[in-house]
Order: sequence, then structure tokens, then C-alpha cells
Amino acid sequence: MTIAIVGAGLGGLALARVLHMNDIDAVVYERESSRGARGQGGMLDLHSGTGQRALREAGLIDGFHAIARRAGQDLRLLEPDGTLLLQEDTPDDAPLERPEVDRADLRNLLLDSLPEQAVHWGHALESADTGLLHFADGSSAPYDLLVGADGADSRVRALLTDARPVHTGQSVVELGVPDIDRTHPDLAAMVGRGNYWVLGSGQSLSAQRNGDGRVRVYLGFHHTAEDWFARSGIPFGDPAAARVRLIELFAGWDARFTALIAACDDTVLPRAVTTLPVGLTWPSRPGVTLLGDAAHLMPPVGQGANMALLDGVLLGLALAARPDDHPAAVKEYEREMFERTSAAGRQSAYIQEILASPDAGRKMLAFFQPG
Ligand SMILES: Cc1cc2nc3c(=O)[nH]c(=O)nc-3n(C[C@H](O)[C@H](O)[C@H](O)COP(=O)(O)OP(=O)(O)OC[C@H]3O[C@@H](n4cnc5c(N)ncnc54)[C@H](O)[C@@H]3O)c2cc1C
Repeated sequence: MTIAIVGAGLGGLALARVLHMNDIDAVVYERESSRGARGQGGMLDLHSGTGQRALREAGLIDGFHAIARRAGQDLRLLEPDGTLLLQEDTPDDAPLERPEVDRADLRNLLLDSLPEQAVHWGHALESADTGLLHFADGSSAPYDLLVGADGADSRVRALLTDARPVHTGQSVVELGVPDIDRTHPDLAAMVGRGNYWVLGSGQSLSAQRNGDGRVRVYLGFHHTAEDWFARSGIPFGDPAAARVRLIELFAGWDARFTALIAACDDTVLPRAVTTLPVGLTWPSRPGVTLLGDAAHLMPPVGQGANMALLDGVLLGLALAARPDDHPAAVKEYEREMFERTSAAGRQSAYIQEILASPDAGRKMLAFFQPG
């Protein structure tokens, strides 16, 4: 039995880890050339009942506690005129309900738990026939069970469903302030130790402190078309001019918020927010399945990584429990995964709806403090 996992993201690596713990051979094919080839992005919050549960099953919870940031749970919620709606500071002895972790640290924890040769770097999947994978460098490899853990733009997905990610109407520009404590202590104090959200009508600014002292800033524009970046007047190739244009787009917002944009460095990245249909399923096929974003891409409001980790672990456990009947194991995994991730997808879509609504700040406050 040859198990091929395409994608060394969180979900694919969680699966590889559980298979390794159960002495089941598997190969992970990853298009990046090495673990450090690309920045892994910012922080993730891992929830006790899902992402942390997965790490516990994978024998990695102690390693996780060593890299988790309790204070990352802090939250400040504001309105564009500067009104503070909510401030939650995490006490030192608070439970680790949903601590933040640096995505690169988490990926390294998973990678370090696998044998060196488990991941075949530099293998970008182009296509898959029955039983054979074809890579961009012209090489190929056989498989009996193929697991698509290849993220939002999955190539494996087409073997199971015609569904494709669609634009949610939200366009995000990512920026960041490096080493903020030293370079802009006033802004560092404003953002605090965790998440900082300013929600306006159809527009938002969120900032998040990362483990390396960088604050990532995400400027969200709702109700936008797919070609919005091209029509926005933001010159992405000229970061200084892009910041000036972005400040223009935030005209009327409190000066502290536009000061945060002005303090950003030359990273200015357009990110369109896309999702798969909530509740997507497919008829089970014995030799192929999907996990993580490949199966259920949802808005980035805190569920995707948690679901991907748990998918990987539960698929691994199902395969270990039925070593002689992989089709049944896959079916069992998919049944649970469809139900669990549909619920997470519905909740994410609901939060996304709040973010896009007029008076988003007050609505989010009511979400956090119901009644
Ligand atoms: C800005 C932002 C913030 C987020 N914050 C959170 C959060 O706080 N909490 C949370 O739970 N989720 C969060 N998410 C969502 C989360 O990042 C994803 O849901 C999660 O990373 C999905 O994991 P995955 O393993 O399915 O896919 P990925 O992490 O995308 O990994 C896919 C892997 O497959 C590889 N790959 C792709 N195509 C190929 C190919 N053709 N051949 C070989 N390899 C390939 C990629 O290089 C990558 O390594 C956030 C997302 C964004 C964009």
C-alpha cells in the first residue's frame, strides 16, 4: 500500500505524523524546495477542542505548549473613530483555550517529528491519473491512496468534485511593521500583545503581534469584485505610493490607525479571500481523498488550520484502525469530516457576514458578549 500525501502544510504533516507513529509508510510531496523556502505567514489560534486535540493525539502537545503564546489571546475591538468597544487582557494563569502560535514554529514542530526523508521537497504535482502522480519536473510516482492536502488551489480536488473556490467579496491588503517595540513603541502599546480589530462599515483594519516582534496588518475591503485590486488605484509595485493610497482609502479614520499604515515596511500583498461552498461533499472514492483547505476552504476567521490539523490526525487514526480496509477508513473519515467542517464553515461564514455588515464593530461586540 503506497500512501501519497500531496502538500506539506499543517494538515498533510499531521496525517504523516500519525501514520509514522503507527508504522505506516507514507510519502509527502511538497512543491516548495525546502522547509524554509517561503515565509509561512503569521499567527494561528489553536482551539483546545480541535487543533490542540489533534496535537495531543499526535503526541506533540508538550512541544506545542513550548511555542504557544498565551498573551496572543488578548483582544481589542474598536470603531474607526477610535472608540474602544472591548478589551480582553489574558491573565498569566488563564487556560490555553485558544493561544496563538507562529505558523512556521508549528510547521517545524510537525516536520521535526517526522523522519528526514518523509517529505519529498521540490515536487509540485501537475496532475494525477489512476495510480500515478505527475510532477512539474517531469517525474512521476505511483500511489494506492492519494490524499490531497494541497491547500486552497488543490490540484487533487478535481479528481473528486467540480467545486472551485469563489471570491467572497472581501479583498485584503497585507502589510506589516517590523520590530515594532523598538521602531514604534507607541503603536506597539496601541496594538497590545494579541489581536487588534478596528471594524468599520465595509472596511476593516486588523493587526496582530507575531512572535518575532513584527505586527502584521490586514486591511479588509468588503463588497469588492474579483478585479478590485487592479481597479483600486493601489500601486503594489511601489510600496511607498501604495501606503499613501491606502491611507487615502482610510480617510476619516482615527489618525492612530492611519499612522499604523504609514509605519509599515515595503511588504504590500494583495490577498483575495475565497471559499469553497459550505457543506461541500463528494461521493467517496476508494483511492483518493482530501483534507484541510483542499476539502473545505473557509474565510480566514480562525477555523481553517484547526480543521486541517484535526482532519489529518483523524484520517491517520482511521487508516491505522483499518490497515486492511483503506476504502472503509476513508469513508469513515469523510463522514465525520463533512459534518464537523460544515459546522465550522457555517460559523466562519456567519462571522464573515458580520465583518461585511454596516455597524460591524457593534455586531462583533454582541457576538463576543451575547445578551
Ligand atoms: C491571513 C490568514 C490567517 C489565518 N488565520 C487562521 C487562524 O488564526 N486559525 C486558523 O485555524 N486558521 C487560520 N487561517 C487558515 C489556515 O491558514 C488554513 O486553513 C490552513 O493553513 C490549511 O492547512 P492545509 O494544510 O489544508 O493547507 P496549507 O497550509 O495551505 O498547505 C498546503 C501545502 O500544499 C502545498 N502545495 C500546494 N499545491 C501543491 C502542488 N500542486 N504540489 C505539491 N504541493 C503543493 C503548499 O505549498 C503547502 O505547503 C488563516 C488563513 C489566512 C490566509
